[in-house]
Amino acid sequence: MADQHNEELLDRIKEFLRAEVYPLEPDFLRRPFRELTPKLNATREKVKSLGLWAPHLPKEHGGLGLTLSEFAHVSEELGRTPIGHYLFNCQAPDIGNMEILLAHGTTEQKEKYFMPLARGDVRSCFSMTEPEHPGSNPAWMSTTAVKEGADFVINGHKWFTSSAEGASFAIVMAITNPESPNPYKRASQIIVPIPTSGFQLVRNISVMGDEGSDYASHAEVRYENCRVPQSNLLGREGEGFAIAQERLGPGRIHHCMRWIGICERAFDLMCSYAARRELSPGVLLASKQTVQEWIAESRAEINAARLLVLKTAQAIDTKGAADVREDISLIKFFVAGILQKVIDRAIQVHGALGLTDATLLSYWYRHERAARIYDGPDEVHKMVVARSALKKYMRQD
Ligand SMILES: Cc1cc2nc3c(=O)[nH]c(=O)nc-3n(C[C@H](O)[C@H](O)[C@H](O)COP(=O)(O)OP(=O)(O)OC[C@H]3O[C@@H](n4cnc5c(N)ncnc54)[C@H](O)[C@@H]3O)c2cc1C
Repeated sequence: MADQHNEELLDRIKEFLRAEVYPLEPDFLRRPFRELTPKLNATREKVKSLGLWAPHLPKEHGGLGLTLSEFAHVSEELGRTPIGHYLFNCQAPDIGNMEILLAHGTTEQKEKYFMPLARGDVRSCFSMTEPEHPGSNPAWMSTTAVKEGADFVINGHKWFTSSAEGASFAIVMAITNPESPNPYKRASQIIVPIPTSGFQLVRNISVMGDEGSDYASHAEVRYENCRVPQSNLLGREGEGFAIAQERLGPGRIHHCMRWIGICERAFDLMCSYAARRELSPGVLLASKQTVQEWIAESRAEINAARLLVLKTAQAIDTKGAADVREDISLIKFFVAGILQKVIDRAIQVHGALGLTDATLLSYWYRHERAARIYDGPDEVHKMVVARSALKKYMRQD
């Protein structure tokens, strides 16, 4: 299958980012997100009017109807700016929630939760990880949803429920079938409208110096006798884990291509600074071999990462995510690692300037360390890849 990309669409997006989005970045870095909302909403309207809205969604739902491979290229372009995905309504966690609501939602759930999200009228969150249990073993959790009359009553403690502040609903993972012999068939996904009595946003967790608010929050949440109708079950009972896995396959392509966009922007910053910073009269930073090595290695690693991710996206488009599990794990840790290296080299080239908020580098350095942890830590993905590679070498007897 050939690499799918629409040059004309990508050119239009690049031009829009250059003219309308990059100029918003200084404010984004310095001011709370909620203060920027009117400006960002106006820009979102422009994205809609240009027919660029929600590139990942089918056309009948107001999107561009792109395949995952086509969307991967768009995700890279949008990743070059921290607000790109939000302005085009394809930011995590909403994009994943849109995908699972579309695939598993009832007609009523699509009307009530999917459509407002697709229009960009509301935001949402995904509430799975618990402070008392390892997120790397998602089958082990304490949150329960017990049937009482026509309702589910949810009790549990979650954290890192990203974007919970200001969200109008959460999709919560909770144990509904504790008796199932298969631990991966015990949890279900349930939609909890916000506010609902018993849904308590305890705090936004301060992360890497960022106190967090609304869009950028990672919230601690308690569910205390939180009652929702049983009709809020998303998909079938006991299928929560399977649906989460389905969400994570494409989700990792979205993240990896966004990270490649960040790498490209950091690479631009690194090269342009090296090419103008004089170490002594007439001696440019770019003339130093160490800097040239960082540039050459970054170029090779970004190119290699892109090829790997696009190949995996094409495989998901043709075979489905379940058949390419190892490839998905491979790109997740590989690209997250390259992202750290490229941002770090770009900061080093800038010297003290790299630590200031004059460029996006320090923002990304703080915010993207998490890439090696969320959606599965490196070590878990490496284990999946190594186990698969070792299979044919292991003795069968
Ligand atoms: C910025 C950010 C946003 C997030 N957003 C969300 C969200 O919206 N919703 C949500 O539900 N969750 C979210 N999470 C949580 C995330 O999914 C978990 O942090 C992740 O799954 C890891 O779980 P944990 O933090 O409990 O680490 P643990 O599972 O406790 O693991 C700790 C460390 O142990 C090591 N480790 C784990 N397993 C193995 C193994 N098998 N072999 C070797 N070493 C191992 C790894 O180094 C790992 O980093 C987010 C996290 C971050 C950082």
